[in-house]
Amino acid sequence: MTEKWFDEQEISERIAALEENYKVVTERIAQAAVRSGRSPEDITLLAATKTVPVPVINRAIALGVTCIGENKVQELCQKYDQLHLEHCDCHFIGHLQTNKVKQLIGKVSMIHSVDSVRLAKEISRISQQQDLVTDVLVEINIGGEESKSGIPLEDTEAFLAEISTFPGISVQGLMTIPPAEENITKTIQYFENMYKKLVDIRAKRLDNISMNCLSMGMSADYVQAIEAGATIVRVGSALFGQRVYQ
Ligand SMILES: *Cc1c(COP(=O)(O)O)cnc(C)c1O
Repeated sequence: MTEKWFDEQEISERIAALEENYKVVTERIAQAAVRSGRSPEDITLLAATKTVPVPVINRAIALGVTCIGENKVQELCQKYDQLHLEHCDCHFIGHLQTNKVKQLIGKVSMIHSVDSVRLAKEISRISQQQDLVTDVLVEINIGGEESKSGIPLEDTEAFLAEISTFPGISVQGLMTIPPAEENITKTIQYFENMYKKLVDIRAKRLDNISMNCLSMGMSADYVQAIEAGATIVRVGSALFGQRVYQ
């Protein structure tokens, strides 16, 4: 099935742009990895695919993208059957309502946005029903913004203690979306605070909690995020161009 809303011409232009962008982004990721004392393979490029038509996403996967992320349940479900996911993980990166969990489990290999005990419990419950354990990240509201989801940084340990006993989830690390800053120095500070928390918690060796994943950095700041210790960067517009909302 072809996308109804995009004509062929537009799809081929987007694919041409993607091929150029993919080279640039993977090169910058590789260089930042080395600068942070790691290898390029230690960093996962998650392609953030909201609003991107299926043929363009499939081309990204053909180019070598091994992880994609959607942030709306409905959009993910609409695209899902047409995506070439044999060699590509699919993650959920957006705000998640408890009543939509059921539609996701079994489709996504990681949920980045766990920010309440209720949500963690529901992901665990549905996963167990399907004989699955779903990997999750805890979303931190690093800027303490009223309008943003995520738990306060200082509540992280207490939150982990509460959800660590849920059998259908496996906590793999932390995720954040820092405030939209004009000042990159401030953003770097947020990234560094996240990394410090990850390392502190890892040192505590909490039961059933891994702290191997740190999901932070988007198109404007993925290089700085990697330099500060990110293991997953979520990149949308730097790969696919400006988003076109229908
Ligand atoms: C859209 C989105 C991104 C990617 O944003 P860009 O600035 O286009 O790279 C990353 N993370 C989340 C949660 C998103 O929704």
